[in-house]
This record gives sequence, C-alpha cells and structure tokens, in this order.
Amino acid sequence: MTVENTIIIGSGPAGLTAAIYAARANLNPVVFEGLQPGGQLTITTDVENYPGFPEGIQGPELMETMRKQAQRFGSRHHYEYVDRVDASERPFKVYVGDKVYQAHSLIIATGATARWLGLPDEEKFQGRGLSACATCDGFFFRDKEIMVVGGGDSACEEAGFLSRFGSRVRLVHRRDTLRASKIMQERVFDNPKVEVVWNKVIERYLSEDGQQISGVRLKDTVSGELSDVPIDGVFIAIGHAPNTKFLKGVIDLDDAGYVNLHGTTGTSVEGIFAAGDVADTRYRQAITAAGHGCQAAIDVEKWLEEKGIH
Ligand code: NAP
Repeated sequence: MTVENTIIIGSGPAGLTAAIYAARANLNPVVFEGLQPGGQLTITTDVENYPGFPEGIQGPELMETMRKQAQRFGSRHHYEYVDRVDASERPFKVYVGDKVYQAHSLIIATGATARWLGLPDEEKFQGRGLSACATCDGFFFRDKEIMVVGGGDSACEEAGFLSRFGSRVRLVHRRDTLRASKIMQERVFDNPKVEVVWNKVIERYLSEDGQQISGVRLKDTVSGELSDVPIDGVFIAIGHAPNTKFLKGVIDLDDAGYVNLHGTTGTSVEGIFAAGDVADTRYRQAITAAGHGCQAAIDVEKWLEEKGIH
C-alpha cells in the first residue's frame, strides 16, 4: 500500500494553506476535505479582513481559490470524511469508512464547529428562523424581532451586527453578568436596539405551522418560571467545539477537546501536527489559521527531512 508523505485532514484556511506549502515542497500531499469542504468560511458571505482583497471577498470564493492554488502544485483532494486515525504504529493509518490510507505524517486541521443548544427540532429549524451565523443570515431578518443566545464576545458581536437589520434584538443570557469583554458589553448596553434578557434559557422552540420558528419558550434560571415569547429569528452564539472526536486517545486534547500543542504545531505524537481553529481558542481568524497551516507544512517538511523520509 502507498505510504503518503503527509495527509492533511481538514480543508479550511489552515488545511488548504498547509496543502499549498506541502505541495510546493514536493510532498505530494493528500487532503481529506471532510463534511464541509472549505470549512467555516463557506457559510459566511463577505470576508473583509483577509489581506489582499481590498473590496472584500465571498467566503466560498476565497476557499475555492485556495483549493485551486493547492491543486496547481499537485495537492490531491478527497471529498471524504475521516472516521479514525491509528497512531499506535508507523506509518500512521487513516480510516475513511472501510478504506485505509497510510502516511508518515499528518496535519490535523479539522477546525471547530458552532455549538447548538441540543433542543428538540433544532436541526429541522436551521435555516427556518434558526441560525448560528449572523453574517450569513442576518439579512433575512430586516425589520423583524431577533433573539441572540449567549453571553460571550460572539453573542455581543452578533447582537450588534443584527441590530442593523432587526427591529429589536433581545440578547438572552443564562446568568446575570456577561462573559464578554468590557468593550463588547458596553457596545451592547449602549445600543438602543439591543435589550439584554438576564437569567433565561430557551426551553423549546415554538412554531405555529410546524415549519418555521414563530417563538421560543424561555425558562428563568433563578425562579424556574416559563414564558412564551414570539420571535422571528433566533441566533445561537454559545461558542464553538473543536472537531476532534476522532482523535480522542490518539493525541493529547485539552478538557474542551482542543489539540494541546507542543511548540508551534507539534502534538503529543511525533509526526502528527495540528493547525488552525482545532488548536486555537484565542484568535480563530482565517488569516491566523492560514499562517498556522503554513507553519505546520514547514514543520512537516523539516521533520520528514530529519527522519530521512523525504
Ligand atoms: P464563549 O466566550 O465561550 O462564550 C459562550 C457564551 O455562551 C457564554 O456566555 C456561556 O454562558 C454561553 N453558553 C454556553 N453554553 C450555553 C448553553 N448551553 N445555553 C446558554 N448559554 C450558553 O464563546 P464565544 O463568545 O464564541 O467566544 C469564543 C472566543 O472568541 C472568546 O475568547 C472570545 O473573546 C473570542 N471572540 C472575540 C471577538 C472579538 O473580540 N470581537 C468576537 C467573537 C469571539 P456562561 O457565560 O454562563 O458560561
């Protein structure tokens, strides 16, 4: 069976930048693109802070250009999802269903995914009044009543952004103080269109026609009291979870599941590297993920050279 120099798992800015660098280093990388080829940027619209695009660029277009750039140098892309990695012996084994691939090194760039509340019908209502992406879906709620759930920087940022569209934005938080940074809190408190609803959680989504969200049932976290609130759009902004389930017991992860880095891109297993949001709880930007992917590819190249493999 062929043993690849490196397999890159994930296809956001980290994975695709790693692919560009690894391909240009003649490592002939294989990329597993996963369930969401292009990653989180494919569900955003305007990307205005990625250097090189003074007028901004659409997220999906940016990812397509990155992919094409990697492929131009020979990177090979599989639109498949990796279920399991076996690092107990070398070369490493990567399992995709019942297919097995082998590689001397791996770059983990599987990113993170928005967290949901875990309520009944949550999947059904996504795109029908329920969203985890204000930049993607805010536009649909012009002059409508909007609710944002969460108390961190993301929730405050989304509430501010959505106040440009909605008639009113209610920021629902489960406690009586926000977790967000002071400056983000002040922006929320100073925004006349945003009202903070303290000590409440959504107990269930309500729908008049069974298709589209028409309201939510809120539960007071102190008194337990229930109240039904009519609402047109609900945005969940309660953080992200790293996509590392398949790595449990393979490399060291922190309590939240993020990859524990050894140095810049190394992991607890020599030859397995990680880059981007899967190992980043702080910056989470496309440009930092891309830079990190570049570092991972250079680290792989040097490691393979040191080991006399390539
Ligand atoms: P976060 O800081 O982890 O905040 C998540 C919020 O959601 C918390 O307020 C939490 O409540 C609440 N929450 C979690 N699970 C919940 C549940 N099941 N039901 C109801 N509420 C729930 O996540 P984040 O806001 O996405 O921020 C992540 C990181 O990105 C942070 O480091 C943040 O500073 C950074 N960030 C920065 C900016 C910026 O600077 N412009 C913008 C966005 C994000 P508790 O407070 O009670 O735990």
